[in-house]
Amino acid sequence: MKKIIAFNWKSNPVTVKAAIKLAKTVENAIPQKKYSEVVIAPPFVFLEDVGKAIKKAKLGSQDIFWKNNGPYTGEISWHQEKNLKVKYAIVGHSERRQILGETDGMINKKVLAALKSGLKVILCIGENLTIRKRGKKAVENFIKSQLQKDLKNIENCKLKIENLIIAYEPIWAIGSKHPDTPKDAVEMINFIKKVVSGKYKVESVKTLYGGSVNGKNIKNFLKYKEIGGFLVGGASLKPKEIKNIIQNTK
Ligand code: PEP
Repeated sequence: MKKIIAFNWKSNPVTVKAAIKLAKTVENAIPQKKYSEVVIAPPFVFLEDVGKAIKKAKLGSQDIFWKNNGPYTGEISWHQEKNLKVKYAIVGHSERRQILGETDGMINKKVLAALKSGLKVILCIGENLTIRKRGKKAVENFIKSQLQKDLKNIENCKLKIENLIIAYEPIWAIGSKHPDTPKDAVEMINFIKKVVSGKYKVESVKTLYGGSVNGKNIKNFLKYKEIGGFLVGGASLKPKEIKNIIQNTK
């Protein structure tokens, strides 16, 4: 099955010119004979220009609002995103949960709106360091609870399982230069697959790993077929890393 590499640029870069340049770096690194799906999630303000600069890569958003349009100051709706040719929506990133106070209830509304609109959702889940230190059972309980809250009622969306992607991102590994061990990440990914398939009777949900992945350490994760791809933050801004990540992911 095709792997997904999703580049989350967060609040970078600063100008549209730099965003187009970075998008072209990604585009040029994708081989003609494509073997993985590469997604670029730029800041909203660059969606349109980045969308025009790419052909092989797919456009993603870093968030989505659940209403179509209306009096929702500062929010960008799923409908507006679809009109900009966005194909993937990242939902529930830990920075939005922690810095902006996004709750599981809000994330669930976003997941439902995205799935109903036909967007592919990359739902981010993952534990913080305090939970991790309590051991594996505590992490599993936390992950299970996040899945139950964030995916509530998705059975009403006529779910196409290929439209639901889960990114396992332990918070302590994000931007820390200390990725999870591939073995531990795979254990959690298998747990996530088990929870989702048990509840929704789907064979397997594509599950990505995210947290300090770079062009070098990615090889250790790629040994495990359970990992459906990667969500990449910091390294997605560095041309050399971009090339290595894309070219190493077969
Ligand atoms: C992220 O923020 O989703 C992420 C994985 O960031 P980084 O690759 O920088 O750890």
